[in-house]
Amino acid sequence: MTRTATREEAGRTSPVAPLAMVVGPTRPPASVLQRMSAPAPPLTDREFIAEFGRCLARLRRLVGSASAEVAVVPGSGTHGMESIAASLLEPGVPVLVASTGMWGDRWRDICLRHDIPVRAPRFPVGRAPDPELLEKLLARREHQALLVAHVDSSSGVRADLPELARLARKYDALILVDGVSAIGAEHIELDSWGLDVYLGGPPKGLAGPAGLATYAFSARAARRLRERAWRPHTYSLDLAPWLPVMAATERGEFGYFQSPAGNLVLGLSEALRLALEEGRQARVGRHRALRDLLHEGLADIGVPLLVPQERDRAYGVTVGEVPQGLGEGALLSAVAEQGVLLQAGTFRPLGRNTFRIGHLGSVTEADITRTIAALRAGLTRSRRRL
Ligand SMILES: *Cc1c(COP(=O)(O)O)cnc(C)c1O
Repeated sequence: MTRTATREEAGRTSPVAPLAMVVGPTRPPASVLQRMSAPAPPLTDREFIAEFGRCLARLRRLVGSASAEVAVVPGSGTHGMESIAASLLEPGVPVLVASTGMWGDRWRDICLRHDIPVRAPRFPVGRAPDPELLEKLLARREHQALLVAHVDSSSGVRADLPELARLARKYDALILVDGVSAIGAEHIELDSWGLDVYLGGPPKGLAGPAGLATYAFSARAARRLRERAWRPHTYSLDLAPWLPVMAATERGEFGYFQSPAGNLVLGLSEALRLALEEGRQARVGRHRALRDLLHEGLADIGVPLLVPQERDRAYGVTVGEVPQGLGEGALLSAVAEQGVLLQAGTFRPLGRNTFRIGHLGSVTEADITRTIAALRAGLTRSRRRL
């Protein structure tokens, strides 16, 4: 017979488990953890292939598409970004990067490494990419693609994807989206917005396993992958060989390019099932309502947000400015003493004066209330220590 520690026993070391309000990894629900902890089935197992197929169909639904080609591939989010650049972007042909923080900067750095010329205009701190400026640049010269982070988790800025997709299409550029910290928390309408590639990662808004990247490709992007007249300089990062593998999987047949970790695929499939069971609209609505509650609380205790305009604020990530005179480290440790873990800032232009709160995955109203209370107490304490 197994026996779990009583509250009292657990209480001897820590009365309440700390609450991690981080961008990732977020807490996977029990049913996801259960799938992840089972031994990986053989990749040729019929039941496994059938579940992998369901996983792909769920991903397509979650990103708002009826017909996109989708893929679930081993790797981190960064691996996913680099795979997209290496597979879809022709070296020597310029791209436009709409950067709102470190993830846009990473798009730029990846492209440069692959000898893809980059134009990356700067936008004012905390502002979404300015469509007028982007249109000017797109009109001036040919770009093969517009690259953007749906939500940049270093700034908490959400880009206006429908508007950026409209511009990209008007100027015949692909629109390639890093949605790693957006999927599972934000509206995504691949088909009706006209996005070309939407990259997702399971361990943030989906509360799934790390180690996989998810992709959805428009017909135009899939055609570009199949018909490109040049060859990527990397073998394992090429996304083209995955398309027939994923198509075979959805038909219930075995296909192979590289071995995925089967238990991660099963964990992701369950995380996607739960997201669809909650409902696409309901899940976004929950994140939006919790964001609003958090932002009200932050205003109440005098923590300024990096993003000045509400419409540019992401639903699942908030970046706060460390109040004047307090160090980021001192504030975060004072909050940690209250049992809530927040993350240091990664928005370079402001140095160490920001911090991040992740409200992604299975976050609840009680988590938000606890976070605000911990910040309020942490702020008071660190002010007293000054
Ligand atoms: C976390 C994150 C990534 C990269 O994820 P890794 O798995 O750490 O490589 C990419 N883009 C965004 C917007 C992210 O938040």
